[in-house]
Amino acid sequence: MIDPISLIRKNIRSLAPYSTARDEYSGELGIYLDANENPYENGVNRYPDPHQKRLKERVSAVKGVPVENIFIGNGSDEPIDLVYRVFCEPRIDNVVSIAPTYGMYSVAAATNDVEFREVPLKEDFALDVEALLAAADDHTKLLFLCSPNNPSGNSFLREEIVRLLREFPGMVVLDEAYIDFARQPGFLSELSKYPNLILLQTLSKAWGMAGLRLGLAFARPDVVATFSRVKYPYNINVVTQKMVYDRLAEDIAPQVTEIVAQREWLEKELAGCPVIRHIYPSDANFLLVRVDDPRGVYERLITEGIIVRDRSRIRGCAGCLRITVGTPEENRRTLEILKEMKG
Ligand SMILES: *Cc1c(COP(=O)(O)O)cnc(C)c1O
Repeated sequence: MIDPISLIRKNIRSLAPYSTARDEYSGELGIYLDANENPYENGVNRYPDPHQKRLKERVSAVKGVPVENIFIGNGSDEPIDLVYRVFCEPRIDNVVSIAPTYGMYSVAAATNDVEFREVPLKEDFALDVEALLAAADDHTKLLFLCSPNNPSGNSFLREEIVRLLREFPGMVVLDEAYIDFARQPGFLSELSKYPNLILLQTLSKAWGMAGLRLGLAFARPDVVATFSRVKYPYNINVVTQKMVYDRLAEDIAPQVTEIVAQREWLEKELAGCPVIRHIYPSDANFLLVRVDDPRGVYERLITEGIIVRDRSRIRGCAGCLRITVGTPEENRRTLEILKEMKG
């Protein structure tokens, strides 16, 4: 069994966190003269709660996970960067990931000066478990997986993820940004089974709060505590904490159901477009499609005011465009244009 703490960089293991005056006293306070704030109330004149206590309790209730297992970040970008800073010694350690996948994993590797080892997915975008295991060595600290995967849209087989959790000699960061759109549940309820699991989720997709920047990481309490020691003290601002708290009370199921239904409708309709050569199966809120002339299709859509993501130059995605599922109206309009195009 992997001991996550032993994988943490030495300088981080011995780090004392920044502590605020309000951390040192937990009684009822009325007069705040400790933080050089402007004393006149306007809704944002006070620093936010660095521990996000109230918000974490709400996240805990919504997700069914104890507060000690929850880290809240400024988007998923923050925990993605933090795992490098916590586990990887620049220029010495390395991480393993898949290709194609979400670009932020390699961007954060580059900014942290950590070697990023890409293992191609198979032809049908399935995991190559043997190759992923073979890519690891004594300096491998992390494996980045994304399921459902961006940009391919597919979920990986549960047994294969489980095998990697059991056999990979480092932490496994499993990004479930799109899990709410998937046909099967993710790994959140199994967090306690895997000491090396760091699960990422976000409020940017199904929850509709991309503009508020809130990402979640779920892991063992000692890993979460380490992230909390390394993060900027006030990483989640007052407005985000308050708005997210309120919005988490809402039921997203009707919208998710609608988006999934639209994805299925779009998939069926796209199959009848001469310009579309292939549609990849999706468990997310987008479809990856292959065409003969991706740039041409992209430009044509642009002239109609529709922007999709050209993924044709990334590894394993030749000819591919990624189309996000929009409102029924937006999807109908997009389809109309695509249907007119010659194959
Ligand atoms: C969109 C997306 C995210 C979300 O990032 P935020 O910083 O939370 O907005 C995370 N992972 C993947 C794979 C994504 O596609």
